[in-house]
Amino acid sequence: MSAAARTNRFRRRFIQLNLASWISHLNAHASTPQFQTQWQLSPELVARGALKKYRDKVKALQQAQLLDTETWFTQRIRAITAQLATQAAIDYPCSRDWQWEIHSSDQIDENSYGMAGGKIIISRPMVNDYSLNESALAMLIAHEMAHALLLHNFAEDQEALRLFPAWAEKSFEDFETAIDDDDTLIRALASLGKQQEFEADLKGLQLALRAGYAAKGLLAFYEKLRKKSAYPNFESLSHPAPAARLQRLRDWLTQQESPN
Ligand SMILES: [Zn+2]
Repeated sequence: MSAAARTNRFRRRFIQLNLASWISHLNAHASTPQFQTQWQLSPELVARGALKKYRDKVKALQQAQLLDTETWFTQRIRAITAQLATQAAIDYPCSRDWQWEIHSSDQIDENSYGMAGGKIIISRPMVNDYSLNESALAMLIAHEMAHALLLHNFAEDQEALRLFPAWAEKSFEDFETAIDDDDTLIRALASLGKQQEFEADLKGLQLALRAGYAAKGLLAFYEKLRKKSAYPNFESLSHPAPAARLQRLRDWLTQQESPN
């Protein structure tokens, strides 16, 4: 049901209440305010919100001449994404009709990220700084794709609403902005975020393996991550410790080789 249709339904119901019942209704609810949600959280709503943010981001990068500045690089990341998306359509049927989209950003000090519905930004300064080869780059892209395939934005929003139900009173746009900018929310969601990073590492690795990449080349990405980190054994607010990420994947690969 659309928000407008819902509003109309509430309006009709309001008119039907007579004054006496309205007063008793007010008294009954005076001490327990009811939050009137104008939106219902769903993966589709989250993907629509992500698409809007992605479009704004792409536009801003374009205006700053930081978007897809090297044609060969853009073609390379698109080709890798297409190969991984073919496999993703098999492993995650829900993604079959997704329009995967990937761009590179030259903005310094910004991470790569994967958003709901399959919208990805790859940080080119990071790729250059880490001198990522084809497989390591595929691992980075597979990791960002896994965030989208695992509906991580949706899970994060669900957790935020569970912890802070009053956000349901605000507009969905305000809520989404707060998820990115509000310190209290960011801190409250940090441990879920780290869990999601481990999950995207593993599911991204599995996706890339099934798409035909070799394990050694994929793990090289996490080896670089550890090597480049000033504090490889320490987690940040948003990410687990690089050494722990590499170790988890190595452990999983060892288990695959000798399941007993
Ligand atoms: Zn991630």
